[in-house]
Amino acid sequence: MPTLTIVSPFYNEAAPAAQFCSMLERLETEVKRRYSLLVDKVLIDDGSTDGSAETFASMLSGRWKILRLSRNFGKEYALLAGIDHAKGDLVLLLDADLQHSLEVCMTLIGEILADPEMDVVYAVRSDRRETGWRRAGMARLFYRLINLGQRYKVPENAGDFRVMRRRAVDAFAQLRDRRRFNKGLFAWIGFRQKAIEYRPAERAAGNTKWSRRGLFALSVEGITSFSAVPLRLVSGAGLVVALAGMLYGVKIVLEVLFHGIDVPGFPSLFVAVTILGGFNLALLGLVGEYVWVALSESKDRPIYVVRDILEPGRTGRSAL
Ligand code: UDP
Ligand code: MG
Repeated sequence: MPTLTIVSPFYNEAAPAAQFCSMLERLETEVKRRYSLLVDKVLIDDGSTDGSAETFASMLSGRWKILRLSRNFGKEYALLAGIDHAKGDLVLLLDADLQHSLEVCMTLIGEILADPEMDVVYAVRSDRRETGWRRAGMARLFYRLINLGQRYKVPENAGDFRVMRRRAVDAFAQLRDRRRFNKGLFAWIGFRQKAIEYRPAERAAGNTKWSRRGLFALSVEGITSFSAVPLRLVSGAGLVVALAGMLYGVKIVLEVLFHGIDVPGFPSLFVAVTILGGFNLALLGLVGEYVWVALSESKDRPIYVVRDILEPGRTGRSAL
């Protein structure tokens, strides 16, 4: 029988744990009944401090393991840890906060099984249209920028919620980027991918781990690890400013020579200096961002550290 591995990262999700585990149980029964798939579960404790891991361990049934990371690494990293340990023919990535419903999971699995040629089926949020225009505009700009001149496209509003076949999972696990922008990595691997729309449920318990600042940082990370467009834009703008400066210089020389007009003093100088100075600083910051990416990649640290693994029969403190 082919196996489906469910990979779920969690960070301080003790509150929805009971509901989530019972959802997993229902999912397992359904999947076995409808598609005769075996199910195993890999949960990743991303450095929780609220005893989530023990709670999950006491409630899970069937085949499961919980990887406990040595600290909080972030969802991207926790997911990779889970994917590295997922053995199934199909792998379903699922949040532990109940925003990804049983029904949508069944749809994803149904869709991928219906078409043997399909390698990935991912879920796209349909509720983003209702977010404010400013947010939506920013998001559109972000995707426009990151997709500019790429051979692969990062789809809008697709998250990690998806089911993948073994070959796509293996390809993804080969990408050992240290700064992980999953949306980009999922697009980069290629394969035949298909989107289905869904509306995420409200969070049943606990809080989102994303702040506005976190989102902004993620966007910067996405752009700097997938696109050189900002650098090129700035070089282009620099060229334009330099050209304009030169033209202005020629104009001044001609005026002095032919009309005897004195060079009008400080304002022009001040404007030129501030514009160029600001421009220089901004460019320096941008280059710094890219240097920081290169630095993180070159340090060759492990991407995540597993503290220990909980399994049925090994669910808590060691004997010592
Ligand atoms: N998560 C994680 N590590 C983190 C932050 C979040 O493993 O540092 C998990 C979290 O417990 C949840 C999933 O990633 O299962 C999605 O997180 P969240 O609900 O905060 O994100 P959102 O749904 O708001 O995008
Ligand atoms: Mg969530």
